[in-house]
Amino acid sequence: MSRTTDLRSRELFERAHAVIPGGVSSPVRAFNAVGGTPRFITSAQGAYLTDADGNRYVDLVASWGPMLLGHAHPEVQAAVEAAVRRGTSFGTPTEPEVELAEEIVGRTPVDLVRFVSSGTEATMSAIRLARGFTGRDVVIKFAGCYHGHVDALLASAGSGLATFAVPGTPGVPASSTELTLVLPYNDRDAVTAAFAEHGDRIACLITEAAPGNMGVVPPEPGFNAFLAETCAAHGALFVSDEVMTGFRASPQGQWGLDGALEGWAPDLMTFGKVMGGGFPAAAFGGRADVMSRLAPEGPVYQAGTLSGNPVATTAGLATLRLATDDVYAHLTKAGETIKAAAAEALTDAGVPHTISSSGTMFSVFLCEGPVRDFADASRTDAAAYAAFFHAMLDAGVYLPPSAYEAWFLSAAHDDAAVQTIVDALPGAARAAAEAGKATK
Ligand SMILES: *Cc1c(COP(=O)(O)O)cnc(C)c1O
Repeated sequence: MSRTTDLRSRELFERAHAVIPGGVSSPVRAFNAVGGTPRFITSAQGAYLTDADGNRYVDLVASWGPMLLGHAHPEVQAAVEAAVRRGTSFGTPTEPEVELAEEIVGRTPVDLVRFVSSGTEATMSAIRLARGFTGRDVVIKFAGCYHGHVDALLASAGSGLATFAVPGTPGVPASSTELTLVLPYNDRDAVTAAFAEHGDRIACLITEAAPGNMGVVPPEPGFNAFLAETCAAHGALFVSDEVMTGFRASPQGQWGLDGALEGWAPDLMTFGKVMGGGFPAAAFGGRADVMSRLAPEGPVYQAGTLSGNPVATTAGLATLRLATDDVYAHLTKAGETIKAAAAEALTDAGVPHTISSSGTMFSVFLCEGPVRDFADASRTDAAAYAAFFHAMLDAGVYLPPSAYEAWFLSAAHDDAAVQTIVDALPGAARAAAEAGKATK
């Protein structure tokens, strides 16, 4: 039984295929991991998406994180409309970018911030700056952490722990990843060994502040502090990628959960998603002495025609100003309800699962725990998730179309929206149980 029709989405997907590779502008949107036709969304309001066939879904993707306040928030819309009327791009400094920078500096440990247009640009630029500042070339990243499609970071582990990486995709030259080390997440021994062997060549270690791109895999207590200390001891920079977690996991991002508590700060941070308020805006920031090495103050080149765009920074500023403690308290409460309902439904259906969280972010792995790194996360039952996903979709809940993603709530997820999710879970859990059996 399918509650939803997808005729119009199918038509659009066919047309899209004729002119766009895979019919999508970013691969995960294509539903390849779950099968079926991606829904073409025509409008969204609050917690709900409406597709081209007129189906309405409670949205648990939130544009992959940005829509913290829900879709089409009236105050954000009004600010954006006013900004559009003033003109959309000037190629000059503007007041909204100063205000957004002040807001970010006020919430996080960074002294200075530079705007870019995507999270990818933010991490790419942070790495260039770390290399320029230290005069070193090697970068460490963790398997399962995603930092955008930067050549040097689309890397897979080489044959041994402290050996250099190989390209993770065709099109990335070996020369781009031969200065990248890929280590298992939450593994202190691997970090210690890599620094022991290559310490004086390491420009920076970059990590998701709490990984969300292999599903949510929280840092073990003290892990980020350990990384910061290890980097400092070897003269390398600690780059904390908060593109997903920033202003999402807590009002101060993941840093607000462990950095503020444990008393350390990253040398550089990257932001995106929520800070753009649904527009293409991202940023990197950090210590004043490091950031001032950027052009025009310093020699490290970095630039962007649309960087700090006045409409995008206005949307981001309006969003952050409305992202009060109440919003995060609401996300926590709604998240607890959904996590408890998911655990109960999956337990009742006999589906192995692990629910993992960091701050207000969480995800549901369809495998036994613990899930502490990418190898663990990879045990999730993808076929069971596909069945789970489609059952939820048919019941009017839009989950991420991939088993390795966080479920994102918004301030607009009221009791009715949460109840729709809770009501859909038992049926979806039974569908997952059937599909899981079939693949055994
Ligand atoms: C989404 C994401 C990026 C990339 O951002 P884009 O805007 O998609 O380029 C980088 N790092 C993390 C942690 C992300 O979640």
